[in-house]
Amino acid sequence: MIRPPLQALTFDLDDTLWDNREVMTLTEEGHYAWLDETLAEWLADRGEDHLGRFAERQPITAYQRRRRELAERHPLRRGDFTWIREHALASLLEEFGLPHEAAWHWATRAMERFHDLRLRVSPYPEVDPMLTELGTRYRLGSITNGNLAFDRLPLRRHFTVAIAAGEIHAPKPDPRPFLMALARLGTPPSRAMHVGDSWKEDILPAIRLGMQAAWIAGDTPHGAPLPEGVHRLGHIRELPALLEMIRQK
Ligand SMILES: [Mg+2]
Repeated sequence: MIRPPLQALTFDLDDTLWDNREVMTLTEEGHYAWLDETLAEWLADRGEDHLGRFAERQPITAYQRRRRELAERHPLRRGDFTWIREHALASLLEEFGLPHEAAWHWATRAMERFHDLRLRVSPYPEVDPMLTELGTRYRLGSITNGNLAFDRLPLRRHFTVAIAAGEIHAPKPDPRPFLMALARLGTPPSRAMHVGDSWKEDILPAIRLGMQAAWIAGDTPHGAPLPEGVHRLGHIRELPALLEMIRQK
């Protein structure tokens, strides 16, 4: 099929522009440990240490369970991870024995800590120069289901549009964040390519809309032949060569 030249590229973030696993583990454990320690000092200062240690009475598994329960009870919010985490923390802190207002104060502060830690991602070294170069040729957008404060990362400057799909209550594979990105980039789907690592959340919704797609497949085993318009890459650093090949077709 002859396709019109590409005008725009949209990118997934986590596990596409950086490896997210380590940061998520550090963030998950780090903000909970910070809350446990800082709260213990605060309670000790006020002579209220009879409550015991928060993380002993509410271990991190209780926090994870509470998040799953909240996501089930509030299906619309299921992708809004910041909302879910903050509500889970506040409810656990209240059960621990803090008054409502103090519980929310500490939940909010723990989430500030969460966002600081969550931003400690290390984009692959090729990514920044690659986006600078691609930005001279294509309109660039990002679409993430993650809840990192992307506006605070230097990489954000490359993107005309940055969509946090969970916060608009339409996490990928919902087509709406894609449609929103394309509308703001002023491009039809046929002239855009989405780049992402998740077959289900990135590639399928993009090709259903008529976009092209670059699948960052890593070491996923090769299976059935790829649908038309999908290109398989081992790593994001291979993207410029793919785009060059498409341009010369
Ligand atoms: Mg991803």
